[in-house]
Amino acid sequence: MIPRSAKASHGLRLASAAHADPDSTAFAEKIPAAFRARIDPRDPDDPLARQVFLHADERLPAMGFTSDPVGDLEAGVGPGVIHKYSGRVLLIATGACAIHCRYCFRRHYPYGEQTASRDDWVAALRYLEEHPDVSEVILSGGDPLTLSVRRLRTLTEGLNQIAHIRRLRIHTRLPIADPGAVARSGIVSWLAGVALQRVVVVHVNHPNELDAHTDEVFTQLRDAGVTLLNQSVLLAGVNDSAPVLSALSERLFAAGALPYYLHQLDRAQGTAHFAVCDQIAREIMHALRSQLSGFLVPRLVREAAGAPYKLPLL
Ligand SMILES: *Cc1c(COP(=O)(O)O)cnc(C)c1O
Ligand code: SF4
Repeated sequence: MIPRSAKASHGLRLASAAHADPDSTAFAEKIPAAFRARIDPRDPDDPLARQVFLHADERLPAMGFTSDPVGDLEAGVGPGVIHKYSGRVLLIATGACAIHCRYCFRRHYPYGEQTASRDDWVAALRYLEEHPDVSEVILSGGDPLTLSVRRLRTLTEGLNQIAHIRRLRIHTRLPIADPGAVARSGIVSWLAGVALQRVVVVHVNHPNELDAHTDEVFTQLRDAGVTLLNQSVLLAGVNDSAPVLSALSERLFAAGALPYYLHQLDRAQGTAHFAVCDQIAREIMHALRSQLSGFLVPRLVREAAGAPYKLPLL
């Protein structure tokens, strides 16, 4: 258990760090060469460019767009440990990402040292040991696959000792942001050796993000016994159209990944220019359901602070 005083000071540190960083443009551009290579420089509306290039609209204040739109800072039970939903615990493995997505709701997060890996996972593992109702551990961030394999292996060796943990899920954009980094890192052979059931949820918003290099990483992950899912964010000017999302689902499945979630944008400050209204979102879903095999239709959801699951938008 996390002592009350530690939890209180954790909260205080988070609050003051957030206060010190009110300018949304402090989230610098970060675009790996492999992702940049998939951008068409002649297209002023390139859907990949829009996701990663800093835009003047980020400076516009917008009603209802805040720095913790999903209430994660409230749901934390210890540094980097978020137990918001029943049966699964999310670990903020690291604050770092290989790519900076302009729409990201974590862009304001005062991570500092508040990650689950900072003490070699000791507090996180203790929390999991003490919660026998938890069967799944989710690594998120930031991007957990930017950690070294040595660090990741320390965690999975610890998880192996906890009988009620059966599944490891990893939320990552690294296979898309920088597929070569996955190939070089030893991540695939680490995952192949993990005794838990393994799920990797990648993050692709537009079919142009997939190419022969990402296909190769998906194949390696599947050969290692990993179940591959995808989550997307519904983004104005990127994928707010049924033909784009339909092509994305088909392309993902051809590469071996099933569509899982399509997220309505979390209302983080500086991201309002990406918002798609619920009415349009529903119309897009209707078109997708009319065109695609059922298993190729992602679930449209919205994250709500305090809700027991991600709320479906019907
Ligand atoms: C999204 C999320 C999960 C996982 O939810 P699923 O519906 O199982 O994908 C778990 N914990 C937190 C804090 C989340 O935001
Ligand atoms: S990779 Fe994920 S966590 Fe990192 S900036 Fe992009 S959306 Fe946010």
